[in-house]
Amino acid sequence: MRVLLTNDDGIHSPGLHALAEAFASRHETVVVAPEHERSATGHAVTLHKPLRAWRSAVLPEGVTAWATNGTPADCVILGVLDLLGRRPDVVVSGINVGPNLGRDLTYSGTVSGAMEGAIMGIPSLAVSVAAFVDVRFEVAAQFAERLSRLVVERELPADALINVNVPNLPLERLSGVAITRQGSRRYLSQLERRTDPRGRPYYWLAGEPEPLGDEEGTDSWAVKAGYISVTPIDLNMTGDRLLHDLAAWGLTVS
Ligand code: MN
Repeated sequence: MRVLLTNDDGIHSPGLHALAEAFASRHETVVVAPEHERSATGHAVTLHKPLRAWRSAVLPEGVTAWATNGTPADCVILGVLDLLGRRPDVVVSGINVGPNLGRDLTYSGTVSGAMEGAIMGIPSLAVSVAAFVDVRFEVAAQFAERLSRLVVERELPADALINVNVPNLPLERLSGVAITRQGSRRYLSQLERRTDPRGRPYYWLAGEPEPLGDEEGTDSWAVKAGYISVTPIDLNMTGDRLLHDLAAWGLTVS
């Protein structure tokens, strides 16, 4: 297969390197990744300044790698429309350091890399490990490689992608694989108001995640229970519950 890898932690991230190693022995592997961390950039694309891409030698031998000054979504666009020369069979975004569960998906650059692939009609996966320190990438990298082969073989419906979250456990302690739905775990936003040396206020956004394990069958429940969480995601955001109610509101133009 021809594989396009990207991420939001930047081209130096060990998660990306683990992914590249898992793919490079079996597949034509091209990395197009941000030059530095772009976590929580969501689906931003760069419209108001030039995009640059340059060859990078930081990835293992056998992997063609490009660093860019763009976001993960930019990287996929650059890769597919120019750098790769022809369309990849699959786009894999990750491996992210830290989970992408519940409400994270709205903010996630990792997931947006895969979303951009899906928008372009290419089977796409996002892969994250649910830990920020002492992160184990090996199981996630091998799983991503196997899943990407399946995704190409079975094909995905239009506008669909797959979001994978792997608990940070050794292989023998994993409970298995759970097919899940997106949960509602969110970060409780905190805003710190501080004062700069000139006496003016400034702010730092912070946030504590809600604990894992909301409802059974959700992505965060699965990760807490030791399962690799595999969530199908749809790009169509229509709110079906509200759709029917809204129709009954009797909205008029004036
Ligand atoms: Mn990240």
